[in-house]
Amino acid sequence: MELAVVLVNTLVITQARGRPVEPPESGAERLTALTAAVTEPAGRPREAGDADALAAVAEGLHPVFTAAPGAVEELNAMLVRHGAVPCLYGEPPMLSFHARDAGTVDAWAASMGTALAMVIGVGQGVRLRSCEAAGCDLVFFDVTRNASRRFCGLSCQNRAKATAYRARRRA
Ligand SMILES: [Zn+2]
Repeated sequence: MELAVVLVNTLVITQARGRPVEPPESGAERLTALTAAVTEPAGRPREAGDADALAAVAEGLHPVFTAAPGAVEELNAMLVRHGAVPCLYGEPPMLSFHARDAGTVDAWAASMGTALAMVIGVGQGVRLRSCEAAGCDLVFFDVTRNASRRFCGLSCQNRAKATAYRARRRA
């Protein structure tokens, strides 16, 4: 889940916290951005081509966070495309959602896609959200008890409050 959020926010989003941001455009830039953003040391992409492929995956995952029409169908297609399959490996056996010999891109896409599908499949898709503040498209996973989080963070929450306050004063 966390990985999907990081990937979308790093590779797709074009405005964050009220400012335009430029997502990395070349494979090399994407690789650098991913290496900086993803803290998991194991199985990180090492090739620009993989970073490009993951950017396409992130592009496909983004609609799930904005509840865009067709997002679920696209997610299903992605799970098939990247060979998502439950698989036990290691000793003691651990459950993963990609084939044992899957490459980085397929492994990441299958893991992220499965995590999102499980959230949606238990009726919690509303927790996959996009910041509601103006000028911010950052996505997040809402873990509040009543799924009431509206902003990516405090800076956006404060900015939105100030905007609403000014609008009330003008009225
Ligand atoms: Zn925000």
